[in-house]
Amino acid sequence: MMNLNQAALAAVIQTAFDQTSNLRWQMAIAKARRELEDNPYMHFDGGALLILSPSGEIYSANGSCQCKAYRNGQPCWHRAAARLIERYNEAAH
Ligand SMILES: [Zn+2]
Repeated sequence: MMNLNQAALAAVIQTAFDQTSNLRWQMAIAKARRELEDNPYMHFDGGALLILSPSGEIYSANGSCQCKAYRNGQPCWHRAAARLIERYNEAAH
């Protein structure tokens, strides 16, 4: 699990959620939040968020991803999580 300030992360997530009216992105953000809180296999390497998904797949997400949703042009929680971490890091400094 990433060592994150939960209050700061919650604020970043709420802002991101409020800034999109796209239901799929909102769902992706909600899933990203659960994974950021519970998934021990996530690591930000400075450029991308590395994720061992509950499905067993490994993803490296920033603006792009390797998952099926991304290939289909859909929002995915991997990219949502990567963007949330970027925003969290920006807010923290
Ligand atoms: Zn993805």
